[in-house]
Amino acid sequence: MNCDVCKVREAEVFHPHTGRRLCKECFINDVRERVRQEAERQGLFKARKVLLAVSGGKDSYVLADALAEVLKGVKLIAYNITEGISGYNREEHVAKLEGFLRERGIELLKGSFKSQVGYTLDEMVQASKAKGLNVSACTFCGGFRRKLINEVAREVGADFVATGHNLDDEVQTYVINFLRGDTSRLIREGEEPLRLSDYFVQRVKPLRRVYEWETTMYAYFKGYEFQEVECPYISQRPTLRAKVRELLYSLESRAPGALLRLLEEFDRLASERKREMLKALPRNQLPRCRICGEPTSYGREICKNCELLLASGLTPKYASLVSR
Ligand code: SF4
Ligand code: ZN
Ligand code: ZN
Repeated sequence: MNCDVCKVREAEVFHPHTGRRLCKECFINDVRERVRQEAERQGLFKARKVLLAVSGGKDSYVLADALAEVLKGVKLIAYNITEGISGYNREEHVAKLEGFLRERGIELLKGSFKSQVGYTLDEMVQASKAKGLNVSACTFCGGFRRKLINEVAREVGADFVATGHNLDDEVQTYVINFLRGDTSRLIREGEEPLRLSDYFVQRVKPLRRVYEWETTMYAYFKGYEFQEVECPYISQRPTLRAKVRELLYSLESRAPGALLRLLEEFDRLASERKREMLKALPRNQLPRCRICGEPTSYGREICKNCELLLASGLTPKYASLVSR
C-alpha cells in the first residue's frame, strides 16, 4: 500500500491519531513539521543560541536531529551530564552522542555531578543513607540536573534550554499534578511556563506534541545507537507515573489522538491558572540560595539541593563547567 502523503513510496507506519499510512520519509517529515510548529510557537526562531539538554536516550537524539533541521540559523549547543551511577554512565555512550552531534554541527559540553557539585550521585545516595535520611536517588538526580542545566545555559548565554520531553511525558506530568491536587505546579508547565526569576533560562520542549512511540520509530528508522541501559535506581521512581502511563496507553489505544487532545485542554487550563496565580504571587523575584546562588522558593535562604547535601553531611564544592 502506498503512502497517503507522497502517494509514491510504500507506507511503513500507521498513524492511529490521523488515520493515515505513511512512508519512512513522510513519517520523519511529519514529526519534524510538528517540531517546527512547536519551535515557532515557543519563539525559538528568534533565539540566537539554544542549549539542548541531552541525556543520550532516544528522545535526545530525535530532539537534536529535528532541531538541527528546523532551526538552521540558530546556534545550537548541547550539554550532557554524567551523574556518576556505577554500571549506568558509560563513556562510549557519550562518545557516540558527541559524534552524532558533531555531524550536525552541534558542540557537546560534557559535565558531571562529580566535577560540578563535588560528588557522584552514588556518593550522595550513600551519604544520605548513612545519615539515616530517606531521600531517593531521583530526588538528588532531578534537583541537581535542573540546577546544572540552568547554570550552564546562563554561562553560555543561551536564550532557551530545550529538553527532549515528549507528548506522553507531558500529559503524564499534567495528570500526576492533578491527581495530587497540586495545581500550583501548573505554572511551571504548559507552553509558557512562568519565569519567576531572571536567573532561570526559559525552558522549551519541542517534542511535546510528538508521541513516545513516534520518537522510538524515528530513532529506529534513522538507526541511532542510543543509550538503552536502564538506570539501576529506576525502581525508586515514583510508581504513580508508571500507573498513569499505563492508564494513558489504554485510553490512547481506545481513542486515538486522546493524548493530543488532553494536552490542548491541559494547556488551556494551565494558562487560566497562570493568569489567576500571577495576581496572587509576590511581585519580587525568587530569592537566591546563599550557598550556590541559584533561585530558590519564596521564604527560603538555602535551596533544596544545598540543603540535601548539607543534611547528608556533604559540603558543596560547586565548580563552573564553562569557565574552567
Ligand atoms: Fe536519575 Fe532516577 Fe532517572 Fe536514575 S531513574 S537517571 S536516578 S532520575
Ligand atoms: Zn510518503
Ligand atoms: Zn543552593
